[in-house]
Amino acid sequence: MNDIVFKRNELLAQKVIKGLESRNMSGYYAKDRAEALKIALELIPEGSSIGMGGAMSAAEIGLPQALKAGNYRFIDRDTAPDRHKAMLEAYDADVFISGTNALTEDGVLVNIDGNANRVSAIAHGPRKLVIIAGMNKVTPDVDTAMKRARNVAAPVNAQRFGLSTPCARTGSCMNCKSPDTICCQFLITRYSRHTGRIHVILVNDNLGF
Ligand code: SF4
Repeated sequence: MNDIVFKRNELLAQKVIKGLESRNMSGYYAKDRAEALKIALELIPEGSSIGMGGAMSAAEIGLPQALKAGNYRFIDRDTAPDRHKAMLEAYDADVFISGTNALTEDGVLVNIDGNANRVSAIAHGPRKLVIIAGMNKVTPDVDTAMKRARNVAAPVNAQRFGLSTPCARTGSCMNCKSPDTICCQFLITRYSRHTGRIHVILVNDNLGF
């Protein structure tokens, strides 16, 4: 990333953080992946139970790897004998780790989901959310955030999971109702009623899709 883009992201992150705070959520700026990991680990007390959606951004800063190696109870749905049970257990976790498909400059989070375990955990359940977001996820408003979720994040995720959706073939949203669609649920998080629950770490880098 060149210096001018880096500086622009730094300024924009401050605007997003103000927007998050106006919505009773907390925002943090990390200049790079290492600093983002440090902030995330400071937010997660040792001994916590941890749930996680398929968060590429968190993996890219090394967070699940650090939690699995540390003194935490990581609920690993990928290795659990009963995946569905592990996903239900994540609703009652002390901390849930997630990315976000997009967020607006004034602090609104936008997420889409097929199974809905991720969006439902963002909406309610886990006592604390730690959301990792690269500055590539920031959009001017909810309309562009939704467009980003459906035309950038969804096609890549559909390809990643080998799903048979039109966007996996064309690279953009065709507003499908295919059985494999990952656009079953849309969640717009515009305010948190629960003080201290939602924490968003903005990383000055491109993370996830
Ligand atoms: S609605 Fe269908 S085509 Fe559009 S992004 Fe979602 S899965 Fe892809």
